[in-house]
Amino acid sequence: MITLALSKGRIFEETLPLLKAAGIEVSEDPEKSRKLIIGTNRDDVRVIIVRATDVPTYVQFGAADLGVAGKDVLDEHGGDGLYQSLDLNIARCRLCVAAPKGFDYQRAVRQGNRLRVATKYVKAAREHFADKGVHVDLIKLYGSMELAPLVGLADAIVDLVSSGGTLRANNLVEVEEIGSISSRLVVNQAALKLKHEGLQPLIDAFASAVK
Ligand code: ATP
Ligand code: MG
Repeated sequence: MITLALSKGRIFEETLPLLKAAGIEVSEDPEKSRKLIIGTNRDDVRVIIVRATDVPTYVQFGAADLGVAGKDVLDEHGGDGLYQSLDLNIARCRLCVAAPKGFDYQRAVRQGNRLRVATKYVKAAREHFADKGVHVDLIKLYGSMELAPLVGLADAIVDLVSSGGTLRANNLVEVEEIGSISSRLVVNQAALKLKHEGLQPLIDAFASAVK
């Protein structure tokens, strides 16, 4: 049995065409069904539905043989036990620093001010500000980062942006790009050896579908 870990939402939606190109069709829509294990048209392939941030963990411990996760999530996880096989070029966005319109971020940085930054991406944020030599107090949040500067929890946030619509709706502006993000196919290192015959054709099919 080959087990693929996916998260609901954009990653699931954007992985479907790649699966299809590999000859795999899922038998249920996770948005409608509450099932967490979904069968496919192939007896030897199943999909498990997990939280986006949990995908690397399932693959790391071999509970899933492979999975699709954002670079953001993989960087925070660290990648232990994972073979990063392929950039799928899906769920594209960028990791940014954003601040309220009225806050002069560049000036605060120039003056060497200590900044309070709220984010889910503590590791990426710590590395980014350390590289720039900016002193920050990081506040770990699990969602809705955009709210933090509006209610005085933080001066700025580090979050993913694609269209910028959520920032605009909350009077925030992007002040710095940290890096571009897309989703990757990751494979359990041991499974890649032990189940090579089953996994490699799948990885190859994904690779040619991406091109
Ligand atoms: P939840 O929404 O359940 O709290 P989540 O926010 O981690 O979990 P998603 O919002 O579906 O889940 O994001 C999953 C992945 O999709 C992220 O890890 C990231 O790589 C990518 N992503 C997030 N936001 C965007 C976006 N606005 N545009 C494109 N890709 C995005
Ligand atoms: Mg989300």
